[in-house]
Amino acid sequence: MLRELAMIFFEKIEISKILKWSTFVMAFLVVLSFLNLFFLVTQQKQYAQLINLSGKQRMLSEKIHSSLYQILFTPSQMGYREFEMNLALMKHDYLFLKKSLDKLEFKEQNIYTSGYKTSPLRVIYESKALLKYPIDPKEIHEILDHREEILADLNLPVDQLQHKSDELSQETINRGVLLLVLVLLGIISVLIFYPLLQYLKIKNQKTLQLNSELEDKVARRTKRLNEMLDIVNQYVYSTHTDKNGVITYVTDAFCELSGYSREELLGKTHSLIKHPDNSSSVFAPLWKTILSGNPYHDIVKNKHKNGTDYWLESYIVPDLDDNGTIIGFGAFRQNITDKMQLKELNDELEKRVVERTAEIERIAVTDALTGLFNRHRFNEELTDALAFYKRYQAPIALAIFDIDYFKKINDTYGHNTGDKVLVTFAELLKQNMRQTDKLARWGGEEFVILFMNTEINGACLAAQNLLDIIRNHLFEEVGVVTCSIGLAALTLLDTPESLLQHADSALYLAKEGGRNQVQVFED
Ligand code: GH3
Ligand code: MG
Ligand code: MG
Repeated sequence: MLRELAMIFFEKIEISKILKWSTFVMAFLVVLSFLNLFFLVTQQKQYAQLINLSGKQRMLSEKIHSSLYQILFTPSQMGYREFEMNLALMKHDYLFLKKSLDKLEFKEQNIYTSGYKTSPLRVIYESKALLKYPIDPKEIHEILDHREEILADLNLPVDQLQHKSDELSQETINRGVLLLVLVLLGIISVLIFYPLLQYLKIKNQKTLQLNSELEDKVARRTKRLNEMLDIVNQYVYSTHTDKNGVITYVTDAFCELSGYSREELLGKTHSLIKHPDNSSSVFAPLWKTILSGNPYHDIVKNKHKNGTDYWLESYIVPDLDDNGTIIGFGAFRQNITDKMQLKELNDELEKRVVERTAEIERIAVTDALTGLFNRHRFNEELTDALAFYKRYQAPIALAIFDIDYFKKINDTYGHNTGDKVLVTFAELLKQNMRQTDKLARWGGEEFVILFMNTEINGACLAAQNLLDIIRNHLFEEVGVVTCSIGLAALTLLDTPESLLQHADSALYLAKEGGRNQVQVFED
C-alpha cells in the first residue's frame, strides 16, 4: 500500500515543483518574519519615543513646580510667562502622549491619577483657558502640596513603558533567533532533501522503467499465449471441467468433433457425449486417479450428436490452484476413430481368419460327404494309437468296412442315391460305436474303425453288431445294404501300413467268403 502510494507520488509529483513551492513558502516565511521584526523594532522605537516624552513630562512638571514656587514667593510677569510656556509645552506633549498611550492600551487613569480622584495638574492640563494671572495662591498651594504624588504619577508610565519596552526587546531577540533558525532549517532541508528527493526520483524512474519493460514483456508473452490458445482452440480437442465434472471450457475443435455447440456443452457433464456402450463403472478408475491428483490416460468411445461413433484417446490432468488444491480437470484428446475402426476391422478380419483357418483345418481332416474324419486324419489317429499301444499295451483293433456291390447301387439308383447310402451308412456306424473308438471314411465306399482298448474278440463282436445293424437297416430307396468287414488286432510288431494290410487281407477274405460277414486277420 505504502509502496503504491510512493509510486503514485513519484509518478505525479515533479521534484522541481516541490522545490519551487518550498522555496516560495520559505521566502514567504522569511518575509513574514522580517516584517514582524520590522514591526517590533518600529514599536520599540515608538516606546523609546514615549519613554522620552514621559521623561520630558516629568522634567517639565519639575519646571512648572519651580515656576509655581517662584510665582508664589516672588510673583513676576517673567515667572508667570515661564510657567505658562512650560505648561504649554507639557500640554502639547501630554495630548500626543495620551493619544499614543491610548493606542497602546495604557489606561489613562493609571498615568496621572494613581492616588487621586482628580489631579490638580490634570485640571490645569485639560482646562481650555489658561490660569489667569495672578494665579490663586490656593490653587498653587494645592498643586505644590501634591508635588511628590504628581511626580510619582509621572514616573509610572515611564516604568510601565520601560517594562513594556524590555519585553519588546526580548521578543525581538526571540523572533530574530526564530528567524535565524527558520532560515537555517530551510537551508539544511534543501541541502538534505534535494539530493534525497533526486535520488528517490531516479530510483523510482528506474523502477518505473523496469515496470514498463516488464509490462511490455508480459504483453508480448500474453499475445504469444493468446496466439497459442487460438491454435489450441482451433486444433486441440480439449475441455476443462470443475471438480464435479461439469464442463467449464471447450475448444472449437472439440465442438466440431462432438457435433455439439459450445452453449450445449458448457454446464453439462461428459455423459452428454459418451457412448451408451460405456457402463458407468468404466469411469470409476478415472475418477479415483484424477481425484487423487494424478493424470489419467484412457481410450473412450463417444457418440457424435448425429449418432455416429468416434473414439478419443484422452489425457486428463487435474487443474490445481496456487495452494495445490484441485479445482477442476483438463482433458486433452486425440481423435483415434480411424485407428480404432481399423483395429475393429483388423479384429474382425483376424476372427474371420481364425474361423476360416479352423474351417480349412476341419475341411482338411474331414470327409465332405459324411462329415467323418478323412483318410489323412485317420492316418494320424492310427499313428497316435500305435504310440499309445506301445506305451500302455492297451489292446487296439482295426476294422475295414466295404459296402457290398456298391457299384450296382450307383448304377441302379444313381450317384446321388449312392451318396445318400454312404451318408446313412456313416451315421449308422457313428451312432452305434463307442465314443472312444475312431471312425473315418477311408475312401469310396470303405470306412475304418479303430476299436480302442478292445481285445480282438470284443472288436469282433462289435464289428458283428455293426454288420447286423447295417444289414437290418432299410436304406431309403435302396432297401437292404450289406457290407463286408476285415478285422485285425494291433501287435507290437505292427506299423500303420502293416495293420491296414492285415485288415485289408481279412476284408478280402470276407469278400471272398461271400460278403456280408466279418473276417479276422490271423497270421
Ligand atoms: P464289391 O462288393 O466287390 O465291393 O463290389 P463293389 O461294386 O462295391 O466294388 P467296387 O469297389 O469296384 O466299387 C466301388 C464303387 O463305389 C466304385 C465307385 O463308382 C463307387 N463310389 C466310390 N466312391 C463313391 C462316392 O463317393 N459316391 C458314390 N455314389 N459312389 C462312389
Ligand atoms: Mg471297395
Ligand atoms: Mg464294395
